[in-house]
Amino acid sequence: MDCIFCKIISGDIPAKIVYEDATSIAFLDITPCAKGHTVVIPKKHYDTFQDIDENAVRDLFTSVKMVAKAVEKGTGADGSNIGLNNKKAAGQEVPHIHIHIIPRYEGDGGGAIQSIINTHPNTDNLDDLKEKIKYCFKKI
Ligand code: 5GP
Ligand code: ZN
Repeated sequence: MDCIFCKIISGDIPAKIVYEDATSIAFLDITPCAKGHTVVIPKKHYDTFQDIDENAVRDLFTSVKMVAKAVEKGTGADGSNIGLNNKKAAGQEVPHIHIHIIPRYEGDGGGAIQSIINTHPNTDNLDDLKEKIKYCFKKI
């Protein structure tokens, strides 16, 4: 498969790997947005978050927790933003799901995850929206 992250897993493309186990691997981002910006990926290829099976998501987030601790300690960060860009509309460029760990430093000028976007959506009909979302659980 022509996937850049699969090539990192296979060793065809070099990366600054900080952690690896049977199911996950973590490496420094090649264009970091903060010192220590790291991505954690499952070794098995999944395009999007919804594609990951339950065991794999458990393994992945177990790794994310450990990597986040090590990254914060190793960089001297004061905190971190941990998240993923899920699908193209959300900024996903590499179609192999990956969790970003972005170390944060007091006074670094950055914002919270929810400051990525604010379209000021209407909040008059939150009950309708709640029901629409709840209804979709029946189809999962
Ligand atoms: P996305 O927008 O898909 O969530 O982010 C993909 C991330 O992967 C970007 O932050 C980008 O810098 C990083 N990235 C893309 N190609 C490579 C690569 O070849 N090596 C490493 N280490 N990071 C990469
Ligand atoms: Zn892949």
